[in-house]
Amino acid sequence: MQTSRSITIGGGVTFRTIREHAGIRRRYPALVAAAAEVGAWQIQNRATLAGNIANASPAGDSLPVLLVHDAVVHARSARGARDLAFASLYRGYRASLSTPTS
Ligand SMILES: Cc1cc2nc3c(=O)[nH]c(=O)nc-3n(C[C@H](O)[C@H](O)[C@H](O)COP(=O)(O)OP(=O)(O)OC[C@H]3O[C@@H](n4cnc5c(N)ncnc54)[C@H](O)[C@@H]3O)c2cc1C
Repeated sequence: MQTSRSITIGGGVTFRTIREHAGIRRRYPALVAAAAEVGAWQIQNRATLAGNIANASPAGDSLPVLLVHDAVVHARSARGARDLAFASLYRGYRASLSTPTS
């Protein structure tokens, strides 16, 4: 849910940036704690929150935090853009709404 207290985290933002960002540390400490669980520093330096979401792995450390905070995913493609409630994003193991069905 977007509120005046919401923040937008862009597709290229790494877990290291999340760990170090003053505003995120103040308002979303659980996300900072989750970022610290992703691999090691080498992974956190490159891995993004967007990649963690799109990976759709049940082991994704950021995903429970996004769920409890009612996160909204802004998805954009050549066909357009849409906002998706994080809670409605996945339809199975490693499968999101954007995963092609066979
Ligand atoms: C050694 C190692 C340890 C790891 N440990 C953990 C861990 O402890 N916890 C954890 O949660 N994950 C872990 N991971 C998994 C992975 O690093 C994370 O899920 C990471 O957040 C993925 O982000 P990325 O930017 O590297 O995405 P990529 O790996 O580059 O991409 C993953 C998927 O997301 C898609 N994608 C990436 N960015 C976007 C975007 N902006 N918009 C749409 N789709 C996008 C890609 O097309 C791809 O399908 C680990 C991976 C490795 C290699």
